[in-house]
Amino acid sequence: MSKPDWKELQSQFAAAHTSTGIKLKDWCEQQGLVYDTARRYIKKSAQNNAQRKTAQRIAQNPDKAAPEQGKGKRGAEKNCAKPDPGRSPFCADLSDKEKLFVSYYLECRNKYEAYRKAGYTGGDRNARMLYRKPAVARAINQGIEQLSEQAILNAQDILRHWHEIAIADPSEISQMRRVCCRYCWGFDNRYQWIDESEYDKAAEKAAKDSKPPPDQSGGFGFVANDDPNPDCPKCAGEGIEDVFLADTRDLIGPARRLIAGVKKTKFGIEVMTRDQDAALKNLAAFHNLASSEQERELRLLEIERVRLSNEKIKAEIENLRNGANGSEQIIIHNSLKPPGAE
Ligand SMILES: [Zn+2]
Repeated sequence: MSKPDWKELQSQFAAAHTSTGIKLKDWCEQQGLVYDTARRYIKKSAQNNAQRKTAQRIAQNPDKAAPEQGKGKRGAEKNCAKPDPGRSPFCADLSDKEKLFVSYYLECRNKYEAYRKAGYTGGDRNARMLYRKPAVARAINQGIEQLSEQAILNAQDILRHWHEIAIADPSEISQMRRVCCRYCWGFDNRYQWIDESEYDKAAEKAAKDSKPPPDQSGGFGFVANDDPNPDCPKCAGEGIEDVFLADTRDLIGPARRLIAGVKKTKFGIEVMTRDQDAALKNLAAFHNLASSEQERELRLLEIERVRLSNEKIKAEIENLRNGANGSEQIIIHNSLKPPGAE
């Protein structure tokens, strides 16, 4: 068996790590390499390798130098300053996960948050590297451009979107409630059956197992979501806990907006909701922005008012000096404060 080309493998891992944030161990598994051997030759931290790779690329083609390891924002901005309007933000050279990252980034404008939401598990540094990846940066840039074009039309929609998320009542989607136990409302607080058919099934099973038929003296009419009976000796009036999930097809308005998806996990059903705190923050930021814009306009108006008054005074003084109207008018002005002075 020939000796692996560790130099080549190292640069392959560096490239994979830069684009996906994959760990060396996982990468080795993918490549069929023995991790314990590989880690002696391949640096765990892809930093040096990736930097070397970038340097090589710059040397080969200075025009295409990509700031994969860009230290400042300026580098990336410069690189993605020329969006290609013919291409969708979700250009074909992005993986599905990268597309998700771009889409989340456009939503929250936070590379770390977007990185995690897209399902990556690497550290913050990997998030930064993904964010700086040329194809990703280009897609983000195009997305921002498209969004700002739509911004004027959609500002109200976005505002409504955040507002609905912020005010939505999560209990419309899921409830943790305490409901009656089987003995709460049974006759003499004995076991209550839903109906005869439920009892018959239980009796049948008991007969099969050669057991006596179950007690039916508690009667029928058990309703699973009824309130607990405060006098129930079995549950001491506390009932039993019950988690209730609404039929998401029936959700309307804010509650529907709040729900981000439902998935089945090995622990049961998981309902994913949008971040209400973040929606509130967004709303607050929007209102601050609007009011600061208003303040700025007021200040500009005030500056203009002072400027016009000063011009008027100057003209009047000039007139007095020249004795233009000859009427020896005395004009008294309040002293005007310079703009911005209190
Ligand atoms: Zn009870």
